[in-house]
Amino acid sequence: MPIRQLSETMINQIAAGEVIERPASVVKELVENALDAGASRIEVVTAGGGLNLIRVTDDGSGIPEQELSLAIARHCTSKLAEDIHDIRSLGFRGEALPSIGSVSRLSIRSRTAFGDSAAEIGIEGGRVSAVRPAAANRGTTVEVRDLFFATPARLKFMKGERAESSATGDVVKRIAIAFPSVRFTLAGSDRSTLELPATDDSAEGSLRRVAQVMGADFPDNSIAIDAMREGVRLTGHVSIPSFTRANALQQYAYVNGRPVRDKLIAGAIRGAFADVLPRDRHAVTVLFLTLDPAIVDVNVHPAKADVRFRDPGLVRGLIVGAIRQALADSGIRAATSGAAGMMAAFRPGATSFGHGGPANGHRGYEAAYRASASGFDPARSSQRPLDMGFEGAGFDHRGLGESGQAAFDAGPLASADARAGQSEATETLLGMVLGAARAQVHENYIVAQTRDSLVIVDQHAAHERLVYEALKNALHSRAVPSQMLLLPEIIDLPEEDAERLALHSETLARFGLGLERFGPGAVAVRETPSMLGETDVQQLVRDLADEIADNDTVETLKERLDKIAATMACHGSVRSGRLLKAEEMNALLRQMEATPGSGTCNHGRPTYIELKLADIERLFGRR
Ligand code: ADP
Ligand code: MG
Repeated sequence: MPIRQLSETMINQIAAGEVIERPASVVKELVENALDAGASRIEVVTAGGGLNLIRVTDDGSGIPEQELSLAIARHCTSKLAEDIHDIRSLGFRGEALPSIGSVSRLSIRSRTAFGDSAAEIGIEGGRVSAVRPAAANRGTTVEVRDLFFATPARLKFMKGERAESSATGDVVKRIAIAFPSVRFTLAGSDRSTLELPATDDSAEGSLRRVAQVMGADFPDNSIAIDAMREGVRLTGHVSIPSFTRANALQQYAYVNGRPVRDKLIAGAIRGAFADVLPRDRHAVTVLFLTLDPAIVDVNVHPAKADVRFRDPGLVRGLIVGAIRQALADSGIRAATSGAAGMMAAFRPGATSFGHGGPANGHRGYEAAYRASASGFDPARSSQRPLDMGFEGAGFDHRGLGESGQAAFDAGPLASADARAGQSEATETLLGMVLGAARAQVHENYIVAQTRDSLVIVDQHAAHERLVYEALKNALHSRAVPSQMLLLPEIIDLPEEDAERLALHSETLARFGLGLERFGPGAVAVRETPSMLGETDVQQLVRDLADEIADNDTVETLKERLDKIAATMACHGSVRSGRLLKAEEMNALLRQMEATPGSGTCNHGRPTYIELKLADIERLFGRR
């Protein structure tokens, strides 16, 4: 066959194959266009999961009548002036409308502020109709019917109506988070409506929009992030570790206001939470990166959801550092929804025990407690606590419970004399975050009292966390001990990988991994971190090489060592079933207060819960 130029329609259909994967991608492109047009209200209507109908109406600038035919012509855009490296709009490629028009029946009706009337243009499977007058308010309505009718092969790949509708909902929510001052509505044929009233662009307005999308309990269970490094700004919110989900779908990321799905960002979030979440749980996050458009490439893929940073190491470091710092700064804090869920369980007449916990509205509670089904079982740990140089505040775990004393006599029951002597000290303790220890119940729970609440601490989980933090500190404050290999392990790698590893050899040595170049395309490993024990050196080094290539960091090794510290902590902690003296309990509480991250155990479960006195009074009908 001779070489021929493809027809315009075929070129558009090929482009559609990349940009328009499913109905949700159409919605994304149309909503982005509305936002680029400065709309303040955007209404999306779908039928048949978007395959029968998608209609997006906005109150934006509109398209002048004489430009309607350009809007659906390939590579025609009003957005990209000169510089591909300085993109500030969501669209810029000028391919969405012609692509959609090549695989569906598309019509655009629009009116500008200056036009006397509206005009309309249609395109069906690539065939353009003449512009005709129409009636409409200012703004634009784009209607897409029978999506993929012109490409039946693609139609076959569509999932059910429900799945397509939910993908569309996700797209709208994802975009809406970045534009809090715009009102969004989404109505489907199943009559379900998503309504997101406009808030405003302030930090509070942004959080209110996030709450509309994520649920009203998110703000109370999240912490704010605001950090800056070398001109890159990171803002947003992340959930506290006891508020998690089973998948990463509720992790929203934005680069200069553009929703992205980026491996680097997802990996950084995982890294930041690695310490505080079990492997199968995921934080809920909304993160906005703001940086000079010239140092991030958004033109990686036609759908524009991928980005490439000029300095990936910087971005990763910023995200991991900022989240860890925020978690540490927020100190000890358990999920409020945990207490809320408990309230529901307590409420007279709530007979839902054994039915999957409290009723709706306490997802955080359920999530936090579902986590406890997996992970470490304290009852199975029979080891004596290891001595790991963990000492402080007079709390010596080695001798715990050896005396076999009875549970600590609760304050109010003690003799009047003893109380008088202690009252001053107790008064101070009551003012502390976790209060004064009053009793130990079921040989694992410390019951404490603050001025206005009742606190219950899971002593095993809390102590495990403290030991872990101490171990990690020891780990990162001096060089990690290493063991010599009898024979150096030679690892063959692509030359670039070998080179990258060699460049990082000093850092790796600090973590106990001694390696050096071994001729072209190979490295020799002579020492490994002793903590790792017998380890698959080949795999470790390859993972490290991948990570350095992707992110320019050696987090993998650090994370693995942290994991080991976690395991050791697990076995070295006070197990449940040990009786504690009053001083021991108070010492544990004080140490929790002083230790960042101690509000959750290493598996992401809360280490303590707090019940406000006001809530207790409500339970008894006193309020
Ligand atoms: P891009 O968004 O990359 O420019 P599109 O094919 O999505 O390409 O849109 C082509 C052009 O049509 C846009 O540049 C814009 O000028 C115009 N347009 C599309 N949708 C709207 C809208 N809702 N309001 C105003 N103008 C629009
Ligand atoms: Mg566009």
